[in-house]
Amino acid sequence: MSWTIPFARRVHGLRPSPTLAINTKARALKAEGVDIVNLSAGEPDFDTPDHIKEAAIQAIRDGFTKYTPVGGIPELKDAIAYRFINDYGLTYRPEEIMISTGGKQVLYNIAQAILDPGDEVIVPVPYWVSYPAIVELAGGKVRPLQGDPARDFALDIEALRSMITPKTKAIIINSPSNPSGAIYSRDDLKAIAKLALEKDLLIITDDIYDQIRFDGQGPEDIVSIVPEAKDHVAVVNGVSKTYAMTGWRIGYLAGPERLIGMATRIQSQSTSNPNSIAQKAALAALLGPQDCVRRMRKAFLERRDRIMEMLRAIPGISCTEPKGTFYVFPDLSSYYGRGPAGHRIEGSLDMADYLLEEARIAAVPGIVFGDDRFIRFSYATGIEAIEEGMDRLRRALARLE
Ligand code: PMP
Ligand code: GLU
Repeated sequence: MSWTIPFARRVHGLRPSPTLAINTKARALKAEGVDIVNLSAGEPDFDTPDHIKEAAIQAIRDGFTKYTPVGGIPELKDAIAYRFINDYGLTYRPEEIMISTGGKQVLYNIAQAILDPGDEVIVPVPYWVSYPAIVELAGGKVRPLQGDPARDFALDIEALRSMITPKTKAIIINSPSNPSGAIYSRDDLKAIAKLALEKDLLIITDDIYDQIRFDGQGPEDIVSIVPEAKDHVAVVNGVSKTYAMTGWRIGYLAGPERLIGMATRIQSQSTSNPNSIAQKAALAALLGPQDCVRRMRKAFLERRDRIMEMLRAIPGISCTEPKGTFYVFPDLSSYYGRGPAGHRIEGSLDMADYLLEEARIAAVPGIVFGDDRFIRFSYATGIEAIEEGMDRLRRALARLE
């Protein structure tokens, strides 16, 4: 007899991360010899810099292969504190910092720490795909706050205020944003901080793309702009995007000591410490030469300019210019309702399928980010792939006329 125990209700609606799933599918097709232009990947195409790899090799040679303190090794906490001072002018004590298995686990720990069933978390749209799943796995409810592409996805502060209920525990902000590349204005960040202080909410600021911004501005976040809000802010960051270290799985949280304590307790009963070797690699990343960060940022900017130039030349597409990250998020909805009978494109899922089947472009449908009008293209890939991809896109859309 086969095993029939039903899964927990908590996971009934749970779907795999679509960004990871599409990237895996695109890679598999490529490995089979299919000529795919993969614009789905949410990770830098660059290799992890050599000095970082060397630090990991050294850690293995030194036998640094045992359990570490659950919240991370003290020297890595110090290095994170150093980066906060150096980059943001902010002081965090080691008790206000913890290290986890990627920014994703940081978010997971926070949700587990603060949410009871039915508690609400406000999430601006478009949002990163995993926020709703992480909130819902903790029993929480996502309240989406629609963003306006015509205003560069700026937040509607009055709408935000009106969504706050006695059940609201937190708001998640992500600037620069995956998928839109938008950066919130200082005025908007001040307004969010004011609201959070007034209503005693936790602001979860996902700063994972803070070093990939194209406005010439150094990293900046809600705490550096409104330091008095520090005790109401959980800062999520990591080395995945900045140092091309997605596979190493090191992320970190800086926030109120009380939150760090509970998140560390949760981590001690789930994954324990983040990988010891990867922690040594992250240490080298944060304290070592930063020219690799500048080089990658420059490459992303050149690619952003090229992909925008090619997108603007395609009729029927509107796209706000990303101010950071390595994603563009064009609105392709003027092509919806077109296509041969029986195969009409009715939304972003159909559009992503059409692009994969007909143009061999892998991209992520906007619906998984909360807005069906859009498609996400990653430009964390070479210029040739971008040019080929946009050329294919233009031809594929022209066939829908
Ligand atoms: N936040 C955002 C917005 C992301 O795009 C990612 C990338 N997957 C993460 C968090 C988590 O990254 P990681 O777990 O690799 O640190
Ligand atoms: N953040 C990346 C993306 O959005 C990685 C995929 C994931 O972690 O879901 O594509």
